[in-house]
Amino acid sequence: MKKILVTGGAGFIGSHLCERLLKEGNEVICLDNYFTGNKQNIVHLIDNPFFEMVRHDITTPYYIEVDEIYNLACPASPIHYQYNPIKTIKTSVMGAINVLGLAKRIKAKVLQASTSEVYGDPQIHPQTEDYWGNVNPIGKRSCYDEGKRCAETLFMDYYYQNNVKIKIARIFNTYGPHMLPNDGRVVSNFVVQAIQNKDLTIFGDGSQTRSFQYIDDLVEGIVRLMNTGNDVIGPVNLGNPKEFKISELADLILKLTESKSKIVHVELPEDDPEQRQPDIRLAKKLLNNWEPDIQLEQGLINTISYFKKILK
Ligand code: NAD
Ligand code: UDP
Repeated sequence: MKKILVTGGAGFIGSHLCERLLKEGNEVICLDNYFTGNKQNIVHLIDNPFFEMVRHDITTPYYIEVDEIYNLACPASPIHYQYNPIKTIKTSVMGAINVLGLAKRIKAKVLQASTSEVYGDPQIHPQTEDYWGNVNPIGKRSCYDEGKRCAETLFMDYYYQNNVKIKIARIFNTYGPHMLPNDGRVVSNFVVQAIQNKDLTIFGDGSQTRSFQYIDDLVEGIVRLMNTGNDVIGPVNLGNPKEFKISELADLILKLTESKSKIVHVELPEDDPEQRQPDIRLAKKLLNNWEPDIQLEQGLINTISYFKKILK
């Protein structure tokens, strides 16, 4: 049995990861400050004696003895990470310093939940891990993008300087049950709007693209990455290469929900990337042929059924 710390464990991805790690017979400590996390996401795990919740803010050090750390703490939705941008960058940078310092001291493996946002508004397509990105350092998304880029730098430097056992996953747009209804990201927004017969808000003309990965595929990928040998550090893209226009996503959600909602177009936010698609050849090679299994329609059906249940 391994003892594993999951920061941001009450959030969307973290809660699924805690569940998976418990199922595999590990002891799991879920650390969260509940900024965008929700106790409802983990309430079904509380009776498990091998599960512990800790209310803590990762911008201050936390001391514990564990074998592995998954560092997920950070708001991920643009409306939430832009709410208090200084706090967002502190969470990424000071959070990374704190988990890396801990990993160094206790000799634990540590995995960073990085993001496709390190590529910014990418000028090469699809994005490979060796692309350095096209990021605005002073825009509305910078607190998140540059915070995550700096966190990657810190991970690499703790690896080079202190031999800390690190892994970096660059996660592409992921969706599924346990997103908050007011999360603000596109899949949950459209699903909630469609279920409530409210207008679907497409930002801009809807021609911008994203590649949507279902949560179970991501969890499989990050667990496999953590379980690789010390020679595998990444960064490794984890995403579903199937790319959709935002307008196509809206149409599909309307069809699957049989909703009467209309589509409205509102202003495109500043620095909204035009396109995004992961090149996942490296993940396939390093992670025992990992590739996403659940396609968009099936993933949306599961997500719609979750939101119908919690919005009743
Ligand atoms: P989320 O907002 O649902 O989860 C983030 C969790 O971190 C929340 O529970 C929140 O309360 C917690 N948190 C935030 N600041 C904290 C702090 N200072 N101290 C302790 N806890 C804190 O988002 P998510 O989609 O689950 O994302 C999890 C991680 O994966 C994030 O680091 C995010 O950047 C990364 N990621 C997610 C996606 C995606 O599409 N979901 C894509 C790329 C990267
Ligand atoms: N988007 C949209 N309507 C919404 C929310 C988002 O059209 O209600 C668009 C947004 O402009 C972006 C895409 O959907 O082009 C994905 O947005 P999200 O916030 O989910 O993720 P990110 O931009 O970080 O990839």
